[in-house]
Amino acid sequence: MKAAYFTGAGGPEVIEYGDLPEPIVGKNEVKIKIYASGLNHLDIFVRNGIPGLKLSYPHVGGSDMAGEIVEIGDNITDISVGTKVLVNPGFGCGKCKACISGEESLCKRFALYGEHVWGGMAEYAVVRADKVLPYPEKKITPIEAAAAPLVTLTAYRELYTQGNLRPGQTVVILGAGSGVSTVGIQLAKLAGAKVIATTSSKEKEKKAYELGADYVINYVDTPNWDKEVYNLTNKQGAELIVDNVGVATWKKSLRAVSKGGRIVTVGATTGSMVETDIRMVFWKQIHIIGSTMSSQREFLEAMQLVFEGKIKPVIDRTFPLEKLREAHKYLEAGKQFGKVVITVKAK
Ligand SMILES: [Zn+2]
Repeated sequence: MKAAYFTGAGGPEVIEYGDLPEPIVGKNEVKIKIYASGLNHLDIFVRNGIPGLKLSYPHVGGSDMAGEIVEIGDNITDISVGTKVLVNPGFGCGKCKACISGEESLCKRFALYGEHVWGGMAEYAVVRADKVLPYPEKKITPIEAAAAPLVTLTAYRELYTQGNLRPGQTVVILGAGSGVSTVGIQLAKLAGAKVIATTSSKEKEKKAYELGADYVINYVDTPNWDKEVYNLTNKQGAELIVDNVGVATWKKSLRAVSKGGRIVTVGATTGSMVETDIRMVFWKQIHIIGSTMSSQREFLEAMQLVFEGKIKPVIDRTFPLEKLREAHKYLEAGKQFGKVVITVKAK
């Protein structure tokens, strides 16, 4: 099959396009002819090499995928060849306490398609049958189906489950243009919250407003966005801050959160070794909460919102599979607003 794969850890130059053997379907798995695969920052982290993650090469990235089932494993009876599906990219061992209680993302062996095992940047992928979900073809396109899963389930857990966002509360979403944030703004509005988003350009500001943000702060013009949050909330601070930035924003997040408020940390794109003045934590009685990926239940609930049209995947642009290297460079440059999706035309 044709695939765009990593030949080793490194920059975009380790991405090659060529032939790889087709994956073989196991008895509890299905084989999918890929229509499209959503690109995530995770693909860049995997390409660069994640400390502690040992991969054998060639490795096929791509955690988000949508396509058509072309083969099913011997044990599979509840889904048939020809079904159009998208995939929950995360999976646990299925046997431990976390998995049995429905909290797969807390499983010690939690893994992702495209990270720990081959993903969707190829003509075919093999995934666990319990991780596929048929999508309504009349309501969403294959490109939207491939754009939706990872960012929507991530935003769903960080805002709703871990963040416990309630109607009337104010949430700050940092970096409005990321795939997760473009969904996060919509989910927060759906929850009846007031949304303050930050971003870096006039064009992205406009798009964040279009998605429903109540206030957008341009952090290039207004580097002290924490003060602006304070002013916009009658000097109370925001009840919830979603910080996926890390070093560059952490201190300001601690200042911008309200007394008794919550900071959900979900990523560290600018570095993870932050400084925390714990006086801010105990005096303001704030909660610092982690979130990553989601459970199967959260995935299903999040996808239902997409299928009902309550959440619209935001697509920035697409690249064909053979241009994956260019797509990585484009995403790394950070100019996008929403998702970059790779289209695959299998034979
Ligand atoms: Zn487990």
